[in-house]
Amino acid sequence: MKKRNTVLISGVLSIFILISIQVFMIRNIWKQKDEMFALRYTMWSQEAISFINRRMPTDGFDTVRLLLRGYSGKAINELHAIKNREELTVKKKEILDYFTEVVNREQDLSELLSSYFERRGFDKNFNFSIEVQDLEIISHDTIIIYQNGFSDKQQTSKGKGMASSSDFSKSRVLVNRPILEDNDYRFLFNYYIDFSNKRRLILKETSASLGMSIFSILAVAILFMITYRNLREEKRLSDLKTDFINNMTHELKTPLSTITVAGRTLEMEQIRANQDKILETARMIGKQSIHLNQIINMILDISMWERTQFQLDKKPVEIERVLDEVVESFKSGDGCNATINRKYDFKGVIVDLDVVYFTTMINNLLSNAVKYSDRVPVISVEGFARDNQIFIRVIDNGIGINKIDQKHLFDKFYRASSGNIHKFKGLGLGLYYVKKITEAHGGSVAVDSKPGKGSIFTITIPY
Ligand code: ADP
Repeated sequence: MKKRNTVLISGVLSIFILISIQVFMIRNIWKQKDEMFALRYTMWSQEAISFINRRMPTDGFDTVRLLLRGYSGKAINELHAIKNREELTVKKKEILDYFTEVVNREQDLSELLSSYFERRGFDKNFNFSIEVQDLEIISHDTIIIYQNGFSDKQQTSKGKGMASSSDFSKSRVLVNRPILEDNDYRFLFNYYIDFSNKRRLILKETSASLGMSIFSILAVAILFMITYRNLREEKRLSDLKTDFINNMTHELKTPLSTITVAGRTLEMEQIRANQDKILETARMIGKQSIHLNQIINMILDISMWERTQFQLDKKPVEIERVLDEVVESFKSGDGCNATINRKYDFKGVIVDLDVVYFTTMINNLLSNAVKYSDRVPVISVEGFARDNQIFIRVIDNGIGINKIDQKHLFDKFYRASSGNIHKFKGLGLGLYYVKKITEAHGGSVAVDSKPGKGSIFTITIPY
């Protein structure tokens, strides 16, 4: 139990450590890919900007310049007419809004970059954003409208369909820092691009590492589960063997001590004078010896089957007659306190059987039906022949067997409630024996049972 718990804890712990390491590695790979992505597009954007500057008659802000020139002349006059501080603040905001709106609306740089990227085979689906750095209106003196770092408000404008500002700043790439200047104004801003499908692209690039990580975690988890199951199975078998030794000691010692006591009784003078007592004691010795002999034979048979091929001594027999004999002899022995009903009709079929093994097999089922009962046992032995098979059912009104135990019932050494504290003594070999014998005859055995109601064991043998 302690060993199993240690294995379980260390297994879970190692899977947890493995998952942590994998998560850490994937995060690092993701970070690297993310940085590489930004680096790649920074380089390509710079290439694109210098290409545009060298080869194009425009830098992408011609319309913007035109509109701002007309507006700034008007703005100077309006600023000079303002006397009051609050009004001045409102006007400055209005000017800043206009400048940013015009540059967002009228710039052509995005289109130029997009077509450059397309020509080079890069991804062209990006959004742009503008971050104003400095805006001054110049007349005979300079009026600072906005200065990044000096203002308490940072003005960022984005293109359509942008992510939230914090998300955006993480993934955007600074492409250009244009300075738009004229007689009446000086306007500085940062131009950024951002790829909305960047996550998908990086995911695609990291998918191989991700797949391998998931695979390795799964492989370790499955291996661990297999090891743990094997360990549990080993433990179950070792428990079964320990129980078997304890049960066997009990099963052998009980008849032996009865025989010993009976022997001592026979030595007593007053017993020897009584013929009836001698007969009774002799019968007891005989019965216990037969029981002892049966147990030892069953153990020897099973141990022999482990080493050699199953040897059956089959003979054609009338099944009804053989079954009658077995039930009759059981009734006069172990089953004398049980009611045994016979409801079989095999229509005289002849079956190839090893009668000795067959008898032991039916005896095992009948003695279980008597043993595993907490009231007066009522047993039905039913049977019929159909489709070249004989069916024999042993039905009892005993304690029954739950579903979990039913699954293992025919395993070697298995007892429904394990341990030597079992209320009903036994070795856990009887049903294993039944299974082996039916299989050796080309047949099978099945159980159907309800706890508290009774059990039905069905044997099928072909003929
Ligand atoms: P044993 O009787 O020596 O324990 P068996 O292989 O004959 O070994 O039976 C295995 C287990 O199946 C038993 O320990 C018992 O719990 C259960 N069992 C077998 N037959 C019956 C029955 N007729 N009714 C209830 N339980 C049964």
